[in-house]
Amino acid sequence: MLAPVVLLLVSNATAQGTPLPRNTVIPPATWDAAITEGKQKSQVMAILDHLCNRIGPRLTSSDNLQNACEWSREWLKDLGYDNARLDRWGEFPVGFNRGPWSGEVLAPIKKALVCNTPAWSAGTHGRQEGPLVLAPTSEEDAKERATELQGAWLLMKQRPRRSLSGRARRITKACQEAGALGYVYSGRKTRNGMKKGIVHENLLLTGGNYRIRWNKLPAFPRVQVRWDQFQELVAMLEKRQEVRLAFDIRNWFKKGPIPLYNVVADLVGSEKPNEFVVVSGHIDSWDGAAGTTDNGTGTATTLEAARILKAIGARPKRTIRFMLWSGEEQGLMGSRSWVQKNRKDVKVNCQAALVHDGGTNYAGGIVGTKAQLPLLLRAFAGFHTIDSSLPFQVTEGRQPSYGSDHTSFISIGAPGFYWKQEGNAQYRYTHHTQYDTFDAAVPAYQAQTAL
Ligand SMILES: [Zn+2]
Repeated sequence: MLAPVVLLLVSNATAQGTPLPRNTVIPPATWDAAITEGKQKSQVMAILDHLCNRIGPRLTSSDNLQNACEWSREWLKDLGYDNARLDRWGEFPVGFNRGPWSGEVLAPIKKALVCNTPAWSAGTHGRQEGPLVLAPTSEEDAKERATELQGAWLLMKQRPRRSLSGRARRITKACQEAGALGYVYSGRKTRNGMKKGIVHENLLLTGGNYRIRWNKLPAFPRVQVRWDQFQELVAMLEKRQEVRLAFDIRNWFKKGPIPLYNVVADLVGSEKPNEFVVVSGHIDSWDGAAGTTDNGTGTATTLEAARILKAIGARPKRTIRFMLWSGEEQGLMGSRSWVQKNRKDVKVNCQAALVHDGGTNYAGGIVGTKAQLPLLLRAFAGFHTIDSSLPFQVTEGRQPSYGSDHTSFISIGAPGFYWKQEGNAQYRYTHHTQYDTFDAAVPAYQAQTAL
């Protein structure tokens, strides 16, 4: 279905109204042209393919993110958005990039391991092979077992915290001094889906702490292994079998400060150019997979919406501002910064800020307060007819509580909205996991949401 973004944008609804079977605020010719363009000439999957497969995951501070921001800006310029630009919002002290990574069991059996490391953490020095032994539980233990730890991988029964405590840091230092190769710990056993009763197994989540310093870079690898495989390693050690592992993990750091940007482009309004509607997604992602559902999908639908409106020569009365945020995964950093920097303008002129960050499901509705409801009903009238198999509803209620960039707007009293996304895609299966790959996206849902 063609839905939210494009058609809302040109609807320019201002007056109070009641639910209508068809939309009366979007000129019929614009409505028809947008639907034809979005349904028959959709490029949304080609955009997503480029972002996720050609550029790859887009961790904030990575070269990939910078490439994606520049590519998006040029893509918008090529569409005719002469004002497409990168808006700097901050910097990170150190950049982080990944090359390929792999792990394997060499003995007592041969087997590939599904593994990863947190972002902004150490990789290996090429391929590093060694026995697997239990990680020490104290500094003294590490010192006493120094000979055993030398050249060994250390099995940690408890998952390490994102930031190591003082005690954990001291143990790690002793392991490093003994010449150990790094920690091996378990991925998650299970994770509940958003729908009751659905449980996902064996997920490797990616996270990480960007607050690192160039003169004190992380140097001791922390390798997460899929839960079921980790249990096999534990069982082998319990049977006193000699276990040998090898990991080859190409993580590398880049000296900062690394400048960070949001991407911005305006379709300037013909009557009230100062007033604007934001259409957005976040271009950054975690980097354990391709960053498709979180949030390549929102980036691709935003860019496709911009394309459709240009292609049909839409002339909205108010400005439509297409925005791709970055630093979202580290705490909505790009949107918060932009909203604060433009606080007065946002408070006075921002009519709505729409955020797509709910994965690959389709835009099935929008939620508003009682006061917002008449306006939303009028603006979205007829959207349910775009694709009868993908219903669209306007409902009264609170914004979904998922932390995303709409809350940066709400926090200063501006109208931020997060699409209610519906469909069969399992968000919690792909969200920040090894399965967030291009094939997780659903083409029909993407085409609908761009509209
Ligand atoms: Zn996200």
